[in-house]
Amino acid sequence: MQFPTKTIIRSLGIRPVKSCGQNFLIDESLAEKTVARAGIAPGDCVIEIGPGPGALTFFIAQSGAHAHCFEIDRDLCAMLADQYANEHVSLYNQDILQADFKALCPPGGGAVLIGSIPYNITSRIVLKFFETARLFRSAVLIVQKEFAERLCAGPGSRDYGILSVLAQAYAPPRSLFTVPAACFYPQPEVDSAAIMLAPDKSRNWIDPREVFFQKIVRAAFSMRRKKLKNCLKPFLGDDPAGVQAGLLAAGIDLDRRAETLTLDEFYTLADFLREL
Ligand code: SAM
Repeated sequence: MQFPTKTIIRSLGIRPVKSCGQNFLIDESLAEKTVARAGIAPGDCVIEIGPGPGALTFFIAQSGAHAHCFEIDRDLCAMLADQYANEHVSLYNQDILQADFKALCPPGGGAVLIGSIPYNITSRIVLKFFETARLFRSAVLIVQKEFAERLCAGPGSRDYGILSVLAQAYAPPRSLFTVPAACFYPQPEVDSAAIMLAPDKSRNWIDPREVFFQKIVRAAFSMRRKKLKNCLKPFLGDDPAGVQAGLLAAGIDLDRRAETLTLDEFYTLADFLREL
């Protein structure tokens, strides 16, 4: 096994495909630091998203964990499967969005999700993680810096939106470190960031209360410039003025905009509307 430097990637004849989001990590110390932050121990179940030529896989394999790596590129997948044939590394030439996490992860919830992820499916991967968060101890992901800022944003910020609220609810995020564009081959136009998501296991994505909360969050942000009373019209029933007064008494003013609400206020709002 070798760390896939730019020279090695080129010598293997690998041509990065833009439509697959193929910007490969070529900075060895940064790859090592990323895997170290995941705190992987022997025997852990690790799911890797898009291993590419294997920058993170190289260090995951040394941890003694069992890694399940999903790579959509058939050639890269075959190459890694050859390289890691004798390790605790399983390669799947499959779309990560179709992967059955429940079948792979131990039920106790100690798995780790890791990856330098393709920018074009970042939101969908993160949403899939929220849905299955109870299976995981953490996720360590390298994403575009702008996406990391959106995910970590708080109320009142321009970046605060649906994903920020859902992240706070299901897997509060933490920014770990910046990953400069120069750490990738080919070099993207923007910097990236490593983030860690730590699931809040008191919440279960599919509970009816949570499903309704998710609907309210999405509706509240559906028209960013409009007040909550306009965005939430379909949930206010036959007496919108009465509901507005009741909510005001509960501390939520429907004349506010979604971007000003804290997570707790979103739950207060959703629980009130669910009772109607
Ligand atoms: N982790 C590698 C690294 O750090 O060098 C590669 C990172 S590159 C940003 C993203 C990788 O995800 C590519 O290898 C790409 O082929 C793969 N990929 C893209 N879409 C995918 C999908 N839907 N499922 C699995 N892998 C995917």
